Formats: sequence, C-alpha cells, structure tokens
Amino acid sequence: MFEKIVIANRGEIALRIQRACREMGIRTVAVHSEADRTLKHVLLADESVCIGPAPSAHSYLNVPAVISAAEVTDAQAIHPGYGFLSENADFAEQVETSGFVFIGPSPDTIRTMGDKVAAIKAMQKAGVPCVPGSDGPLGDNPDANLHTARRIGYPIIIKAAGGGGGRGMRVVHTEATLLDSISLTRSESRAAFGNDTVYMEKYLENPRHIEIQVLSDTHGNAIYLGERDCSMQRRHQKVLEEAPAPGLTEGQRRFIGERCAQACRDMGYRGAGTFEFLYENGEFYFIEMNTRLQVEHPVTEMITGVDIVREQIRIAAGEPLSFRQEDIVLRGHALECRINAEDPDNFMPSPGTINVYHTPGGIGVRIDSHVYSGYTVPPYYDSMIGKLITFGNSRESALARMRTALDEMVVEGIKTNIPLQQQLCEDPAFVAGGTNIHYLEKKLGL
Ligand code: ADP
Repeated sequence: MFEKIVIANRGEIALRIQRACREMGIRTVAVHSEADRTLKHVLLADESVCIGPAPSAHSYLNVPAVISAAEVTDAQAIHPGYGFLSENADFAEQVETSGFVFIGPSPDTIRTMGDKVAAIKAMQKAGVPCVPGSDGPLGDNPDANLHTARRIGYPIIIKAAGGGGGRGMRVVHTEATLLDSISLTRSESRAAFGNDTVYMEKYLENPRHIEIQVLSDTHGNAIYLGERDCSMQRRHQKVLEEAPAPGLTEGQRRFIGERCAQACRDMGYRGAGTFEFLYENGEFYFIEMNTRLQVEHPVTEMITGVDIVREQIRIAAGEPLSFRQEDIVLRGHALECRINAEDPDNFMPSPGTINVYHTPGGIGVRIDSHVYSGYTVPPYYDSMIGKLITFGNSRESALARMRTALDEMVVEGIKTNIPLQQQLCEDPAFVAGGTNIHYLEKKLGL
C-alpha cells in the first residue's frame, strides 16, 4: 500500500479523499492555491504545498507544479478527485512517466472516453446500449447527412466529439435547419474544444438520467454498485441525486449493470468509473463514461456500504477488489442535496465569509463539506460548499430525514441554495419519484 498520496484537488472532495487515506494509514500531501491556505484539508494534512496563485489555470491545473509537489514530498501516488485534472489523459501520462501512480484509469482509457465518438464505438463493441445515431463522425456530404437524420428520425441532436460540461450540443427539430446546425456546431466546437468532429444522435424528449457506478481492478474483476438517478438538473448541472433510481426493477438493474461491468473487463478498465445513460420508456441509452470519482458517489456508498475512495486507492496500489458482485446488496435509499454558495433565486455565486455554520445530524445524516464557521468561500472556484446526504430504509424515510436536516442546517454570511432544496423536497412530482431531466428547469420557469 502507498505510504503517501498527493491530493490534487480542493474543497469537499479533497477532504473526502484525505479521510479515506487517514483510515488506511496513508499520509497526505495537500496541494493548494494561494487563495486556499485555510481550506480544512490543508490545515489537517500531514504536509501541504502551495502550487500557485488563485486562478486554477495557474494552480490546480498546473501539471508541472502538481508533479513537482509529489517529487519534493516523496509521495507515491496522486489522487485527482473530480474536475480539474481528473480526466486529463496527458496529465495521467505525465504522472506515470514521472514515476508516480495516477489513481484512476490508464491514460489511453481516459483519452478514449474523452472522445465521445470513440467512447460510443467502445460501448457498442461491448454490448452497452447506445442512442441510435450516425455511427461515427459526420462527413461533409450534405445529402448523406440529410439521409442519416431521416433514418434516425427527428428530433435529432448534433454533438461535438470533444464536448463536455453540457456544451457543444444542438437540437434539430426539422430538416430545414439540419445543415446549418451541423456547420454551426462544427465551428463552435472547433473554437471551444479545438476539434470539429461532430456526430448525430436521436434526441430523446423526456428521459431520466440514470448512471451506473463501477469498480474494476487490475486482476480482471469488475463489479457494479447499482445506479443513481441524477435527473434533477439545471443547465446540465446536477442539483439533487438519489440511489436507487425510483421504479427501476432488479432485473433492469442487473441487465444494465452486468453490461457495464463486462465492458470494464473488455476494456481492461482500472479504477472507479461511471456509465451515464439516458433512460426513457424502460430503455437505457449510453451517453458518456466518466473515468473518475463523481460528486454524487456518496449515495451509492450509503446503500452499498462500499467506500468507493478506499477501493480506488486499493485498485491503484494493485490490490484486488474487496468485494465480489454477490457481496453487493443494496439496502435502503439515499439522497444527496448539493449545497451551493449561490443566490437561490437567480443562481448567482455568493462567495464570502461564513460567520455562522451549524450542521444537521442524527440517524442517517452525512455531511461531506470542507466549510466551517469563519471560513471564507473564495470567488475563484466552483460554488459547491458541501453535500448533505441522508439515508433511510425507504425513500420516504430518506426524504423525511432530508427535510429535517435542511431545516436544521444554518449557513449565515453568504447565500445558499438551501431554500431551493427545501422546495424540491416538498415538490409533489419529486416526492412521487421518477421526474425527468427537464423537470427542474420547467419548475423554475426556464
Ligand atoms: P457532457 O459531456 O457535456 O455532459 P453529455 O453527452 O453527457 O454531455 O450530455 C449532457 C446532457 O445533454 C445530458 O444529460 C442530456 O440532458 C442532454 N443530452 C445529451 N444527449 C442527448 C440525447 N441524445 N437526447 C436528449 N438529451 C441529450
């Protein structure tokens, strides 16, 4: 096992990783920007290294600075968390060529999954169901493209192979606008992602977002840890997540879970990963794979009892998975509300000093957050200041605990989205379960 790990991230996830390391007897190095000297995990770390000024481009995204920090502290491995460098294949490669272990998949896997056309190809080969589409990149022949769209059937969506973060997509409802939309998406994606490859998919009108968590070791073992429903989204950003997905049957779960686990074995996948699907009329359609830990991983941990970060670290150290598929028994229900430093009415970020902070507690309540009374939320990074997670034997119980916990939570000095989360937990359609990905935006009148 590793003796020392560099945590190349900030905020709640850096603290989450640090906690797993502590439990495993691994020393931690916190790398941080000049604006982040007072982050909780920095103060708690065995060692810390300032890697640059506040803007992420000069600190958390500064590859040589992160690798030098591993060198000067004599660490053996680097955990990238989520966001920042976590899905950067060049970074993973440089970590490995510098003699460190990257806690995640191989650079080749990251590269393949980062190219959506290549990812879909890999999934089709592995028998994972995909959205009906163009079977590869679109060419320049207008007639061929019109024909492809007709075959798929309108509405269709044009997507950039290199897209991410909900950008580089355009929905087309009628043939009249198809060719212009293809050119527009192409030029936008050239400008935004340096890659003008685009492809076409059937546009699903009212899907849910359901994703499968997997773990795969270097000994040929791969398991799935059930699914999460992350349909509650605004601008493609998840707001509230849950596990299991309301209404999904054990048979559906096994069908899609086994295909994902088999795809991992076929690809020689290493580490934790998530297969994201749109789910409509009982069918799953693969949209992308995230080759990293996800924000919403705790809901899966709550219903499976598996510490996903611990497994990531064990896998990276070459150890076999601690669990077989038959050991994974889903129990109860978990919900996660993302708590953001933002105005609940207009979603504008609300950085500043938190002068009063009281966390909820009690049975089935978990908080993953780096903030404390007196902490100043800097304006430079993501506005998420923590995650409130509740567990119950049933969805109703998890939801009742979430309402109580949200009512108990006090964050003063900045604005937060707690009022929005409270409204959602009272919303009749959400309470009934199974709302689709457009529900929240419609409710907000967007
Ligand atoms: P990104 O990498 O930018 O997150 P995704 O491929 O994961 O891109 O798609 C992001 C979101 O766009 C999905 O969650 C869904 O809301 C919408 N979307 C993508 N593909 C389709 C599709 N074929 N039909 C309907 N909505 C889609």
